[in-house]
Amino acid sequence: MEKKSEDSLFEIALKQFDKAANIVKLSKSHRSILINPTRTLHVSIPVRMDDGSMEVFQGYRVQHSFLRGPAKGGIRYHPTVDLDDVKTLAFLMTWKNTVIDVPFGGGKGGVICDPKNLSKGELERLSRGYIDALAQFIGPKRDIPAPDVYTNPQTMAWMVDEFSKIAGYNAFAMITGKPIEVGGSLGRDTATAQGGAYLVDEIVKNNKLEDPKVVIQGFGNAGSIMTKLMQKAKYKIIAVSDSKGGILNEDGIDVEKLVKHKQDTGSVIGFKGSKEITNEELLELKCDILVPAALGDVITKKNAENVKAKYIVELANGPIDFEADEILHKKGINVIPDILSNSGGVCVSYFEWVQNKIAFSWTLETVQRELKKKILKSFCSIEETAKEYKTDMRTAAYIYAIKRMQKVLEFRGY
Ligand code: NAD
Repeated sequence: MEKKSEDSLFEIALKQFDKAANIVKLSKSHRSILINPTRTLHVSIPVRMDDGSMEVFQGYRVQHSFLRGPAKGGIRYHPTVDLDDVKTLAFLMTWKNTVIDVPFGGGKGGVICDPKNLSKGELERLSRGYIDALAQFIGPKRDIPAPDVYTNPQTMAWMVDEFSKIAGYNAFAMITGKPIEVGGSLGRDTATAQGGAYLVDEIVKNNKLEDPKVVIQGFGNAGSIMTKLMQKAKYKIIAVSDSKGGILNEDGIDVEKLVKHKQDTGSVIGFKGSKEITNEELLELKCDILVPAALGDVITKKNAENVKAKYIVELANGPIDFEADEILHKKGINVIPDILSNSGGVCVSYFEWVQNKIAFSWTLETVQRELKKKILKSFCSIEETAKEYKTDMRTAAYIYAIKRMQKVLEFRGY
C-alpha cells in the first residue's frame, strides 16, 4: 500500500535506518534487535454479516518494540493491508515515538477489508472481533492502538467498549483517538496538522521567510486542517489538491470558500479564480513550503530534480523515497521528515493516555502548549544533530533516535 518504487516499504525504511545506523556505528546485535519486530500477531476474525452469512477476516498487530514503553500505533482497515506494510509501519512508529519522546515503543495493526462495502453493524462486529482476538496481548500497559486509514473515533469507541467488557473494568487508557465523550482528548483530531504547523512557523521565523508561499497536496484530515492553519498564520496558500487534481492561484486561495466548495462539489477542482493543475505539476511549483499530505512515494527519482520548494514538511507518511531524498538534499531543499513532521498525532495520543490514567481532562490550551513544547524541542535537537553530523534532517532524526535507543539497550543489558 502507498508504494510506487521498486523496493518494498520495509526495504525503503531499512535504507533510511541503515544510513543513520552506519554513521553511529550501531553494533550488529543492536541492529538486529532494532529491526526485527518483538511480536507479530496474525488473527482470524469471524464476523456475522447482515445477510446471516459468516465471513472470516484476516487481521494483524505488529508490536515492534517495547524497549521504551508499551507499543503504540494505529489500526488500518483496507483491502490492500499486508503484513509487510504493517511491519514497516510498526517499525516507523518506534522511531516516531522516540523522536517525539513519548514513552512508547512502536506498534501497528491492520485488517484486510473494504470498509466502504461494510455496513455500520458489520464494521462494529469486525472491530469488536479484532479486540476479542487480541485482548490478551494489548491494553494500557502493553499496547495502545489508535485510528489510522479508514478507522475513526467511532471504531475506537467500539474497541474500548469491547476491551472493557473483557477486562472487567472501564479501560479508557487502552486505546486513543476516542470521542471526547468516552475518554478522548481535546485537540486530538487536529493534532497532526497542528504539530506540522508549529514546525512551519518555526521555519518561517528562523529563516525570516517573507510572505511565504505554501503548497499542500491532499485535502483530507491532515491536509485540510493544515490549509486552515496556514491561512490563519497569514501565509499565502497558492495551490492545493485532492485525488481528482489540483488548483493554483498565485494570489492566494481563500480557504474558507474552498472548504465550502469541496463540501458542495466533492473536490477542490473547479474552484472560482483558480487554474486547474495536476497533482504532478503541484509538486513542482515554486514555493517556500511544500506539504505532501496525501500519499506515500509521490516524490521519487523521476520528479525530484523538478521540485522547487525551499522546504518540504512531510505530513504524509513516506511521501519521498530514498533516491529522491538524496537528490533533494543535493539541491539544497530541506526536508522535515515524517517521523517528526506528523508526530503531533501520536504526541496528543500520549496526552490522551496520560489524561485517562489520571482521570483528569486537560484544556485545549494545555494540550496545544504541551504539543508545541514537545515538537519544537525535538525539531531543535534534530537540527543540532544535522549540524553536528553534517547531514540531512531525516538522517539526523534517525541518528538522534538510534542514539537514544542505544542507551536504552545498554542500560537494559543487551
Ligand atoms: P485522508 O484520507 O483524510 O485524506 C487523504 C487526502 O489525499 C484526500 O484529500 C484525498 O483526496 C487525497 N488523495 C488521495 N489520492 C490522491 C492522489 N493521487 N493525489 C493527491 N491527493 C490524493 O487521510 P489523512 O488522515 O489526511 O492522511 C494523509 C496522510 O497523512 C497519510 O499519508 C497518512 O498516513 C498521514 N498521516 C495522517 C495522520 C492523521 O492524523 N490524519 C497522522 C500521521 C500521518
